[in-house]
Amino acid sequence: MPRLKIAIQKSGRLADKSLALLERSGLQFARSKDKLFWYGRNQPVDLLLVRDDDIPRLLVEGVCQLGIVGENVAEEKLLESRCRTDAGLEPLIRLGFGHCRLMLAVPESTTIRQPTDLEGKRLATSYPGLTRRWLEQHGVEADIVTLNGAVEIAPSLGTADAIVDLVSTGTTLRANHLKAMDTVMESQAMLYRCPDRLADETEALLAKLLLRIQGVQQAMETKYVMLHAPRDRLAEISDILPGAESPTILSLEGQPDRVAVHAVCTEQVFWEHLEELKAAGASAVLVLPVEKMLA
Ligand code: ATP
Ligand code: ZN
Repeated sequence: MPRLKIAIQKSGRLADKSLALLERSGLQFARSKDKLFWYGRNQPVDLLLVRDDDIPRLLVEGVCQLGIVGENVAEEKLLESRCRTDAGLEPLIRLGFGHCRLMLAVPESTTIRQPTDLEGKRLATSYPGLTRRWLEQHGVEADIVTLNGAVEIAPSLGTADAIVDLVSTGTTLRANHLKAMDTVMESQAMLYRCPDRLADETEALLAKLLLRIQGVQQAMETKYVMLHAPRDRLAEISDILPGAESPTILSLEGQPDRVAVHAVCTEQVFWEHLEELKAAGASAVLVLPVEKMLA
């Protein structure tokens, strides 16, 4: 019986959500507190818990067949090992968490206003590959100072004129008197697979797991909406329901003018939608989570 190995971050910003996604997909693991390896208990799928930076290599080398890592890390590692052009990672599903941006930022007091002002300057970053690519795209020659951490303090220490760093809210930039100048890359957590084709049985196992993960992803965005509506405004109400195909219409006992509407909404349902529904005459609006889905 073939087994699959999935690499996820051991601890950090992606760790909990990666594990939760796999568990919601029906995988159970024999957890061990400090070991890197969790054996799959109910499926032939094991887990490797590692630093996020190691995940691309584990996939390229075929140690693991699936891995969850930020697109930023995957792209950077591929650019750094440019010699192995044949061995790209294959992105499978964007996972909707770990959103961040790799930003070019400059000190608030700087005279640098546009990319060309960076000519001959020093850029501090933990992402030399992506930074070099941005510089090339903008036709600018600058020095890259590679740092493994504390990139945001480099300008105030005088070791760099600008930085390229990950940002999710901008608070760190402001706290260090920096301002964003350009987005180098937008990123979120992504499920990747190894570049090589696997034995048929292993491919089949992987495909089955992928369907389940896709189902979990869809279910998380999908809501079941129930409401009462005036019969003559049904078309309007169906249009408001985000991503609903054909709602189920049920008659209401003793109320010939009103009906009950049940719909599966495959896009996010916001408060604004509920307010619009109400304005269109809907009442008793309920939005329920969907636990599992198989399309
Ligand atoms: P490790 O010990 O695994 O190497 P790390 O310190 O490199 O961890 P984390 O800080 O946990 O990594 O971030 C992991 C990933 O989370 C990032 O590569 C990025 O894709 C994503 N992320 C989301 N928001 C942010 C943010 N504000 N800052 C940094 N990374 C973020
Ligand atoms: Zn890391």
